Amino acid sequence: MSVEPIFRVKLEIKGVVQGVGFRPFVYKLALKGELVGYVLNNGSGVVAEVEGERKNIEAFLADLELFAPPLSRIDSVTTREIDPRSEVAFEIKTSKATSASAMVSPDVSVCDDCREEMRDPKNRRHEYPFINCVNCGPRYTILKRLPYDRANTSMSEFEMCVDCQEEYEDPVDRRYHAQPIGCRKCGPKLKLVNSSGEVLAEERLAIAKTRDSLECGKSVAIKGLGGFHLVCDATNEEAVKKLRLNKNRPTKPLAVMFKSIQEIKKVALLSQKEEALILSKERPIVIVSKKDSNYLAASIAPNIDKIGVFLPYEPLRELLLEKLDFPIVATSANLSDEPIIRDEKELFEKLSFVVGEALTHDREIVNACDDSVARIAGEETLTLRMARGYAPKSFHLKNATGKKILALGGRQKSSMTLAFGESMILSPHIGDLNSIDSFEYFLRTMETFKTFYDFEPDVIVCDKHPNYETTKWARAYAKENQKIELIEVQHHYAHALACMAECSLDEKALAFCFDGTGYGEDGTLWGGEVLLASPSEYERVCHFKELTLLGGEKAIKEPRRVGLALLFECFELDKILEMDSALARSFSKQEIKTFYAMFARGASSPKSSSIGRLFDGVFALSGYVEKLGYEGESGLIMESLSKFSNALESYSYTIQNGVIDWRDMVCEILEEEDASEISLKFINTISKIIVDVSAKYPGLPVILSGGVFQNATLVAKTSQAFAKEKRRYYVQEKTPVNDGGISLGQAYFALHNKG
Ligand code: ZN
Ligand code: ZN
Ligand code: FE
Repeated sequence: MSVEPIFRVKLEIKGVVQGVGFRPFVYKLALKGELVGYVLNNGSGVVAEVEGERKNIEAFLADLELFAPPLSRIDSVTTREIDPRSEVAFEIKTSKATSASAMVSPDVSVCDDCREEMRDPKNRRHEYPFINCVNCGPRYTILKRLPYDRANTSMSEFEMCVDCQEEYEDPVDRRYHAQPIGCRKCGPKLKLVNSSGEVLAEERLAIAKTRDSLECGKSVAIKGLGGFHLVCDATNEEAVKKLRLNKNRPTKPLAVMFKSIQEIKKVALLSQKEEALILSKERPIVIVSKKDSNYLAASIAPNIDKIGVFLPYEPLRELLLEKLDFPIVATSANLSDEPIIRDEKELFEKLSFVVGEALTHDREIVNACDDSVARIAGEETLTLRMARGYAPKSFHLKNATGKKILALGGRQKSSMTLAFGESMILSPHIGDLNSIDSFEYFLRTMETFKTFYDFEPDVIVCDKHPNYETTKWARAYAKENQKIELIEVQHHYAHALACMAECSLDEKALAFCFDGTGYGEDGTLWGGEVLLASPSEYERVCHFKELTLLGGEKAIKEPRRVGLALLFECFELDKILEMDSALARSFSKQEIKTFYAMFARGASSPKSSSIGRLFDGVFALSGYVEKLGYEGESGLIMESLSKFSNALESYSYTIQNGVIDWRDMVCEILEEEDASEISLKFINTISKIIVDVSAKYPGLPVILSGGVFQNATLVAKTSQAFAKEKRRYYVQEKTPVNDGGISLGQAYFALHNKG
């Protein structure tokens, strides 16, 4: 009888390999191959040693990459042969905490196995609102520090019952080391409370009472994975109006949560891609086209043909929706410009005039996390807000960095990015940093990430805008800490770099950075830039003609001021005073004269090449003279209007000395009557400009980045044109194309900056 020789191999596996069922997976593979040894989590990933026959070890290594658990992502596996030890079994060892560079996984929506158990009256977790397993449930939002073990999460408060403990310790159970494991006996408990802290109902009864409240048109706050939602009946116009009024949110669209994709199809037209995105395990809010139907309250998304829809992402919302005959408005519970609320004390302190009841529980939300928002543009997926389900998002760097880089992003839709070793990590969406509270939340998130990764930066990257809180903070920090290298990156270049980072581009590219306003190198506000950009430098090759923001910040909320300024660039004052358009009529003659004087002197009227603002101006020219209810409203309404037109033409424009001049376009628009024609022709024009300018730089890859590319019609038209020409182009799909991606671009610059 021949005895096969025995070998032993040590493996180190890096990537998203903790809290995703990786060790039991390794365990099962080892048993299958009759291998002995061990597996454990450490601070940088998973370590294993396997011992057995050569062919079995080889099969083990092949299966490891082939059948890795659904939530895992292997970035690298290194193997090394060591001396056999003649053990008799394979075991899973407890975690060893070393330097923390393992990745934090995002929260994951309830999986099919758990859903089935939750619906099974015979299962001990029947209708248990916090059911989870190794393939689903909270991660980032309950985590205090790495490694991802129960003791390091807010589940540490809950002592496991005997049954849960048994599942937790059984390597073949699907809840083996599911850190948030629990049941009705031992896990978090559901309760409905009022603003004085009284418990109105518990467990199943709490869901039933919530249903009653929603049925009579009340708003209820509901705790979720990363924060509270404000919820009301989405078919009840009175209820929705009241919620809007109380929350002081006049027109910004509200997201609606449905119990099933079939229900969504009753109110929305879905493409296959949209349907798949809604059903994906990340469960983002997806912006889709409304159907003509009176089912939903009219004030959910006024003036636009779009609606944000999503499906429940955790068991509690599924259980509640099953008991309701209507979909619910689910908007994050916070005051505008303030961070998302994490506990009911704060909720009632700040929002008691909006909501009187909260469906909540006793598991602490350690890290807040908003809902993610995405939409489909032709073949592309656009990420508008990257949070629950997607973030923290880690990228594997091809070339490891010796630096520790912290990039702070901009001001709106803020996020931060860390880069160290072979990793680059983009935080969840933090929000607009317009208030003290929101900046404190930003700093708190920074501390969280520093703790996670045992990280102290030696490079800090920020925007160039002197008034951004992030820039001020970075400059002050660098002053106090002489060893810190401070890098400031121009805003729109950072947009281009964000796209390069996501697509791993390190060659020269032609970048169209079309955006709201950002601080330009020359002190003006940029936002309609064409850059020749590489990861280490850029050149501004052309840009849109500057328009004037009459009254500065005020003009951003009031498009008619931008519209008027466009007229000032094209016509004499007398001619404008004679005009009889909705725009001209919205001002008194005296106002027009005063603004003209302001324009002529340049007093408190900054110049900007922003296309976001050009959208505003054209919107006003087409007859919309009201104040905007939220940022980006003009673009969304114009996109909606454009659906009523079939125009293929675009307006005239000229390019001279690198300036894209829109004055001919303004004159042509004044000849038009129909707002939908204007909207579509304007979008056609922007797309045509991109294609025309690209033709002057053949051979270079094209990048589309910046907030303007949240416009799906623009992206779809432009990418169709490029596809036809077989032109290589890139749009961010997995990271935000808006300012949510700025920190990623900043970090990418620091990685390539030799300074
Ligand atoms: Zn599950
Ligand atoms: Zn239990
Ligand atoms: Fe921007």
